[in-house]
Amino acid sequence: MSRALRTASAKPATLRLRVTAAAESIIRSGHPWLFADSIREQNREGETGELAVIYDRKDRFLAAGLYDPDSTIRVRILHAGKPQAIDRDWWRARLEQAVARRSGRFDDQTTGYRLINGESDGWPGLVLDRYDTTFGLKLYTTAWLPRLDEIAHLIKETLRPTRLVLRLSRNIQAVAKNRFGISEGPLTIPRGGGPTAAVAPVVFLESGLRFEADVLRGQKTGFFLDQRENRRLVESLAKGREVLNAFSFTGGFSLYAARGGARRVTDLDISEHALAGAKRNFALNREVGAVASCSHETIQADAFEWLEKGVKHRFDLVILDPPSLAKRESERAGAIGAYERLTANGIRLLRRDGILAAASCSAHVPAEDFFSAVLRAAVLAGRQFIELERTGHPFDHAATFPEARYLKCVYLRIR
Ligand code: SAH
Repeated sequence: MSRALRTASAKPATLRLRVTAAAESIIRSGHPWLFADSIREQNREGETGELAVIYDRKDRFLAAGLYDPDSTIRVRILHAGKPQAIDRDWWRARLEQAVARRSGRFDDQTTGYRLINGESDGWPGLVLDRYDTTFGLKLYTTAWLPRLDEIAHLIKETLRPTRLVLRLSRNIQAVAKNRFGISEGPLTIPRGGGPTAAVAPVVFLESGLRFEADVLRGQKTGFFLDQRENRRLVESLAKGREVLNAFSFTGGFSLYAARGGARRVTDLDISEHALAGAKRNFALNREVGAVASCSHETIQADAFEWLEKGVKHRFDLVILDPPSLAKRESERAGAIGAYERLTANGIRLLRRDGILAAASCSAHVPAEDFFSAVLRAAVLAGRQFIELERTGHPFDHAATFPEARYLKCVYLRIR
């Protein structure tokens, strides 16, 4: 066999795709997803994570991205416009870009935040969170698995974490294990260097408060880093108030409320584990005078039911931050109704001049629909109210395309 032929058989031809006109303009406008049903033509079957090159109708380069045969999001676009060589230097530059975007924005009192926010940072389906010197790397697509060593190596070399912990979204765990032999846990390079050590919860700082994150087992990568700015707002509104933190998780909002001068804080969550974390987080901040003097209580219950059942006690600040109520488009109407009921019940628990902070993390409920639902409930409650503020994504969780926008929060003062 000639040399040229051997090379040709060892390295398959570039995976080339042609797409519908609609997809072409969507990609040109910067959207990072190509859906399987938008592919018109493909020169061969693609493999997980290989680079797919998309051409326009005139056969010019349109974009390149990671191929994912397991998902209806068939290609996650890495770049569009002019062709670029995607090599080590390219990946490094892209990582440095994400880091540069955050540089100087956090002082040493905040050592937990998002370093890479997926598509919106040019790393589709990949999240990197910092918890002090431990980093959590979470993958939402199998397309990264063949490059895991390379990416982990790059992160270690560039950012020098003491520990890098891999997390996988539930829907890719089986494929990761069966096809790539990859499971969640601390990443050693090269992989498979002995049994994976247990990862103890990490303590990090957010706005000077100490929090614990269970980077290996916790929800997301261990903490809801996306609520930092809302927690700061709650701190500024909490003085002298009695606070109900519904869907509290490990008490993120509560610690800020306590430091802001709340008299008393009640954490309400269905998870005993989360509430135990909230207690530990209060203990971790006992040297903060205002935290030490704030009384803290936990209630383990289904918050929807608890809020529904006509509790007699009243509060001065109610925080509602439920989990996503619409995992898919078909659940949207139901979710909007649920937000309205939740708000109505939250308002009933407020004393005169109380404050309601209502958040939603449902990607399938657009911000306007959520805000309308909350305001509708407020009007129906028959009490005067003023809207104090609406918030969205914090800058380290910036969302650059519609499907990435999930977080919204509104603050009302209720007479
Ligand atoms: N506000 C939190 C994040 C909330 S995440 C923070 O700042 O960190 C959603 C929380 O809702 C999780 O802790 C989850 O355990 C809890 N949860 C889910 N379903 C619930 C239910 N039916 N009743 C009460 N809590 C629930």
